[in-house]
Order: sequence, then C-alpha cells, then structure tokens
Amino acid sequence: MDTLKKEIEKLPSLRITVEAHGLMAKKALGQNFLLDKNITDKIIRSSLTAQGIADFSSAFCFEIGPGPGGLTRSILEAEPQKLTVVEMDERCISIMSEIKERVKDRLEIINGDALKINFSSFAGEKKHIISNLPYNISVPLLINWLKDIKAYQSLTLMFQKEVAERIMAPTNCKDYGRLSVLAQLQSKITPLLTLNPECFTPAPKIWSQVLLFVPQENVLSTDQIKKIEHLTTLAFSQRRKMIRQSLKSIANLEQKCAQIGIQTTYRPEQITPQQFLSLANLL
Ligand code: SAM
Repeated sequence: MDTLKKEIEKLPSLRITVEAHGLMAKKALGQNFLLDKNITDKIIRSSLTAQGIADFSSAFCFEIGPGPGGLTRSILEAEPQKLTVVEMDERCISIMSEIKERVKDRLEIINGDALKINFSSFAGEKKHIISNLPYNISVPLLINWLKDIKAYQSLTLMFQKEVAERIMAPTNCKDYGRLSVLAQLQSKITPLLTLNPECFTPAPKIWSQVLLFVPQENVLSTDQIKKIEHLTTLAFSQRRKMIRQSLKSIANLEQKCAQIGIQTTYRPEQITPQQFLSLANLL
C-alpha cells in the first residue's frame, strides 16, 4: 500500500538534508555519497527485477553505511518489513533519526562497526543486504557474508570496479584469485550497474559497479570453506608457480589431481572453482 513511500516523500530533498547537517565527506570512512535519487532508485529497481520480485515487502533489509540516506530512502520505498542500518559516523545517525521520525519502527538504527556485526543472527526471514560499501572494508565484509550466504536471500553491493572484476573473474584471467573462487562457489553473481565517478560526491578516481549475489543451491559447509581457503591461499600466494610446487605440502597430490582430472603442472588460475572444491573434498 506504499505506506513508507508516502512518508519518504515528505522528507526534504537529499541535498537540503546534507547542507542542513553540514555533512562533508570523510575519506577515512570511505565516504563517497550518492545524492541522485534516480541512481539509488535504479540500483534498487534493477536488484528487485533481477531477483524477480516486485518489492521487499515481508523481507528484512540491512544497509551498511547509509551515510546521508539516499539509498536508504530508495530501500524504504520498496516497503521492507524492516530496514536495519549500521553506520559508524554519528553525523549520519542524526540524519537517520529524522527518517525514523517518519517511518517509525520500520527503521532500526545501529551506530557501530559493520565488521563486528553478525547480520545472520538477527530475527526475521528473507534477509537482504544492500550497500554502497565503504571501499576500504568491502572485501572483508563480503567474505564474511559469503561464508554464511545461506542466511541471505540476496546481497546488492557496490564495489570499486577493480574489486568487482576480481569477484567475477573467470579462470585464465589475471584477476582470478581466492576471492573469485569463494564468491563463485557460494553465489550466482549478476552485474547490475556500472557507475562513473561523477555519480558520487565527492567523485572518486575510479569507476564503480553494483553486483547482485544470490546463494547457490548447494553451498559449502564450514569444513569445505576452511579447506578451500587453505588450498587457495597456498596456490595463489605463488600464483606463477605450478601447483606441484605451491601445493607440495598436500599428501599424494599427484594422485588426487589425477582423480579430479587436473595436472600438477597447472597454475592456480587454470583451476576452476569446482575443481578447487573437488580437490578440497579429497583433503
Ligand atoms: N550509503 C551512502 C550513499 O550511498 O550515499 C554512503 C556510502 S559511503 C560509500 C560508505 C558509508 O559507510 C559511509 O557513510 C561511512 O560513514 C560508512 N562506514 C564506513 N565504515 C563503516 C563501518 N565499519 N561500519 C559501518 N559503516 C561504515
């Protein structure tokens, strides 16, 4: 019934809000703001469309780093059951409080460090994480969520383009590495939008990309994740070496590789995520 949308429309514009709070971006907090509502709406619309859903009704959404609240407004307009925002910067908490005055209990505000929060332990089914991520902690946050991907229906995340390319990299590509293996084993990844630096305030030096992650049907067990991490750390820390060198600490390596149809003369970038998993299953 578009109840939240009506409340959000009563707020002053984003630019007026930013001016009223004197919100100058802090580099140390990875602050590059999205102040164009058309762009934040497009991020949410493209994510919903790619997931084949009309809105977030009956879902529990989490936003990391809401900042001045552009993306927050667009998420709320998609009518989640509840939106929980986690923000380090107290200046942005007072902006969130103004939104809360309009939408009441549908918004929960946490002033804290997203790296220290276990989102999967929150109450509620159908969890979605959405964020224009602070670039300095985007990879550790993603790895935490990937390890626990079954807890979420989707992750809609903005990365620096170079990081997005590492996540999606296919084999035999220089960007293919540990992050690509874990991300691709745990999730189906869809690139949603590519944004140029001018979309942000202040404009960063690099382009950005929004990716949608949806859990694979069969995700890894905790034990498999540990083994995959062990293997990929060994293999990619010497990425130009053949695996007979980098993985020599693994007992009966020759025999195990033969069993899964790879050769010990391969370099790690030639080994697919599924082959890494097959090898992990033999450890
Ligand atoms: N969502 C806003 C937007 O799109 O305009 C801001 C995005 S900005 C790239 C990243 C936000 O994350 C900032 O508001 C910053 O203060 C916040 N942030 C940085 N480190 C954080 C952390 N460890 N936990 C929670 N928020 C953090």
